[in-house]
Amino acid sequence: MLNIVLFGAPGSGKGTQSERLINEYGLYHISTGEVLRDHIRRNTELGRIADAYISRGQLIPDDLMIRILDDVLDKEAAGKKGVVFDGFPRTIPQAEALKELLNKRGTDLHAVIGLEVPEDELVERMIQRGKATGRADDNPETIKNRLEVYHHQTSPLRDYYTNEKKYLGINGQGDVERIFDDIAEKLEKATGAKRGC
Ligand code: ADP
Repeated sequence: MLNIVLFGAPGSGKGTQSERLINEYGLYHISTGEVLRDHIRRNTELGRIADAYISRGQLIPDDLMIRILDDVLDKEAAGKKGVVFDGFPRTIPQAEALKELLNKRGTDLHAVIGLEVPEDELVERMIQRGKATGRADDNPETIKNRLEVYHHQTSPLRDYYTNEKKYLGINGQGDVERIFDDIAEKLEKATGAKRGC
């Protein structure tokens, strides 16, 4: 298997680059944000809980988020060639849980791709996305909270995965194709992965 975390601040392009990764390497995409938004759309009990956090720009509590991921791995990712995790982990306890969840399925995390984008560009991109898609948490107040949460709770994962020698930093500014080529080059060098396999 080839299991990859796509890491970066909100607005850094994780969704866009995930699409490319799953198509080129035949992987399965798990976006925890999408999983939660799907529950909100279907108005499930979990969706109602998640909505209260997401609309304030806060993280869903770790124990709940980890249980959701465990369930998605069982129901949807079993038998796949590998997974691109988009938006998970977002905290150190989630990173530790991910290791356990993969290990208990006889596999491991192979690489963490970090999309690095300056803050002013992140804000601009999310404002534009909010206008284009109507995504409810892409409004100025919630964006501010999400970036604060990112700096406090999520950005320490960069050092965590650097220590584990899994972090591959990528300049996330500029042309989408150029960014993907950089990702592919570093990923293939680090893991031996090959496109179209
Ligand atoms: P973005 O990275 O642009 O903020 P996501 O779709 O990944 O978009 O996440 C949207 C929201 O969903 C987050 O702000 C958070 O409230 C919630 N969420 C997504 N993934 C997680 C996670 N791993 N842990 C806790 N909350 C999460």
